[in-house]
Amino acid sequence: MITPFSYLIASVCFIIALQALSSPKHARQGNAIGAFGMLVAVVGTLLLTKILTFTWILIGLTIGSAIGAAMSIWIPMTKMPERIALSHAFGGLAAALVGIAEYNHLGSEISRFTMGALGLEVFLGFLTFTGSLMAFGKLQGVLPGSPITYKGQNASNIALFLAALALLVLVVLDPSRSALFYLMGAIGFIVGILFVIPIGGADMPVVISLLNSYAGLAAAATGFALNNNVLIIAGALDGTSGLLLSMKMSQAMNRSFANVLFGAFGKVEAPAEGAAAAGTGTAASYNQATVEESVGVLEAAQSLIVVPGYGMAVSQAQHTVRELTQILEGRGASVKYAIHPVAGRMPGHMNVLLAEANVPYDQLFDLDDINDEFARTDAVLVVGANDVVNPAAKTNPASPIYGMPVFNVEQARAVIVLKRSFNPGFAGIENDLFGKPNTMMVLGDAKKTLREMTTALKGD
Ligand code: NAP
Repeated sequence: MITPFSYLIASVCFIIALQALSSPKHARQGNAIGAFGMLVAVVGTLLLTKILTFTWILIGLTIGSAIGAAMSIWIPMTKMPERIALSHAFGGLAAALVGIAEYNHLGSEISRFTMGALGLEVFLGFLTFTGSLMAFGKLQGVLPGSPITYKGQNASNIALFLAALALLVLVVLDPSRSALFYLMGAIGFIVGILFVIPIGGADMPVVISLLNSYAGLAAAATGFALNNNVLIIAGALDGTSGLLLSMKMSQAMNRSFANVLFGAFGKVEAPAEGAAAAGTGTAASYNQATVEESVGVLEAAQSLIVVPGYGMAVSQAQHTVRELTQILEGRGASVKYAIHPVAGRMPGHMNVLLAEANVPYDQLFDLDDINDEFARTDAVLVVGANDVVNPAAKTNPASPIYGMPVFNVEQARAVIVLKRSFNPGFAGIENDLFGKPNTMMVLGDAKKTLREMTTALKGD
């Protein structure tokens, strides 16, 4: 009685958590509610009378908690996609191993329905395991980051997928054919690798989110196999939210989802013949400025919009940005932060960092809510953002990011860009913004430059 009740509470917590996670204002509470739901579900499961000994559970709990704590303490925010990929790999492996154990445990008593669920669990579990390990390897630079493609790649991947499906049908019809069951698992293992190799390392976050969805579906299948409601609910929530997230990320990067599913993306297409290449600026054509000059612009501005990007995460400049904006607010300027859906390297990346620096939530604005405001703004401070402020996305059909929604920063009276060099960002293309007459490039590490700016402002 207690266990089903605990599952009900846990499921409600998961749903409330997802709802809360959709806004930066409630995201922390959402996280805590979700974690509490998980604790309730685990305790409820431990109370099951079917458990005869706690020895292995305690050993697993100790090792797992130690690894989890170490990962969350020492892995920096910029490495979050890698960390998530590893967690999915372990989740997928766990689902696959539980499926194999249950298959052997049930033996000849296995029903067709349970066999179908177990088959899916093992196939998706192994696929997620190897796919996520590949994603981790590419992001970490252990494996080559560039897409690996070969002739007939999609056709052979689809053929393997269909072969696994055919094996699943055969095993459901006759669950005693264990060789076919293990062969299906092995195909899942291989498909995970083949599915990820054609994708460029830097595009991995979308794939990781999709693998998250597969891990969720594997968990839901485990729930059906074990007759466990909380696993079905949590798996379904995970499966759908992962899928929606990958679709939204693809949309925000102006890629079709079919392109994601059928691989070979992350490979920047060569521009059409005769079309302008992705960028044409040279260092000489950029308007470089000193810290003092940029501070002069900030002092004169009544309205300021900060556009953070991946560089802010790299230099961990969020606290210094906050300090600088507080000084300007103290002098009567209005300050807003523009958050692009794909700024940084994972969804919500900028929100997490700015929340860490206690930037008030009512200063954070989404792309659609702030884009018309740039034209009425005195100054824009671009902190380590590049692609999300590249006007080529609106004006250059030959650009690989053409069509991606970007901030209209160039419409502001003055734009101050903080980055270390004239190097391109994630998409590997030059940025037309840097050559605009109202843009000032202040080169250097974002945190260091912001510190110098704050010191100069305080000194006035
Ligand atoms: P970006 O285009 O990758 O540019 C980041 C810039 O930060 C670089 O040009 C770099 O220039 C600068 N930078 C790096 N370290 C710095 C430091 N210590 N101090 C100052 N500047 C530094 O970043 P973005 O504008 O945030 O755009 C995100 C890109 O990632 C988009 O193309 C998006 O499609 C892609 N993406 C995002 C997600 C997601 O979920 N958020 C997922 C997948 C892909 P320097 O080297 O010159 O300093």
